[in-house]
Amino acid sequence: MIQPRSLVAKDSGLWIRLHRFESGRGYVCDYMVEIVCLSEPYLRELETKVSSIEGNKTELERTIFYPEGGGQPYDTGEISGIKVINVQKVNGHVIHELGSASPFKPGDTVKCAIDWERRYKFMRMHTAIHVIGGLMEHKHGAMFTGGQIGLEKSRFDFDMPALNRELSEQIIVESQEIIDRHLNVTAMVLSKEEALRIPNLARTEPGRQLLEKLPQVRIVEIQDFDVQMDGGTHVKNTSEIGRVSLTNFENKGSHRKRIEISLS
Ligand SMILES: [Zn+2]
Repeated sequence: MIQPRSLVAKDSGLWIRLHRFESGRGYVCDYMVEIVCLSEPYLRELETKVSSIEGNKTELERTIFYPEGGGQPYDTGEISGIKVINVQKVNGHVIHELGSASPFKPGDTVKCAIDWERRYKFMRMHTAIHVIGGLMEHKHGAMFTGGQIGLEKSRFDFDMPALNRELSEQIIVESQEIIDRHLNVTAMVLSKEEALRIPNLARTEPGRQLLEKLPQVRIVEIQDFDVQMDGGTHVKNTSEIGRVSLTNFENKGSHRKRIEISLS
């Protein structure tokens, strides 16, 4: 029997509180700038202003470019026709690296456009990882210890000594059943006090350390299935994930089993 975390939240009186925050701005609070893609992941274009320039590096007042983090790669795209080739978070700032020297100056209005095909793949992959990771934890007691989202394949590691290829195949089949329930996926921002009342909200050690530091916590909930602390972009319904296939299983030690998946 899978223990849905939402029900845990409901039992502890948090259910209504969780949903009151649904319309909250979806940015993680250690950023110095609003990451619009966290509250509006389907937004492909945004007009904003340049806030600083250094060589081919640009900061914006607001951004729809996701900076690499949490296993999700950075977005690419264009700022007023100039290619964006890398986006990183540095001390809470979001630095957009351009393919050529920046023609902008601070205060300029620019039009940003992300490479949507790339981002949407990451959103689907990222949400698939939530489903598989949730199932692994709720049903099999396995802890997610890290992962990397990719365009064609994504991999993630679990601390589960008994995990083998056969069981991994079975978990992918079970994950597909959950995906096919067409569950809604919602991001919310909670106060730290509320977040700390949800058991095991952060799945990894860096996540637990971050949870201690943040005044507010962004969480992502898959309806009636799973809730966890998260700073990435996701699809709004599991139906958008499509079909998951296991492409590789690797035994990297008794506490490190690696699963690799692709989507179609
Ligand atoms: Zn996520």
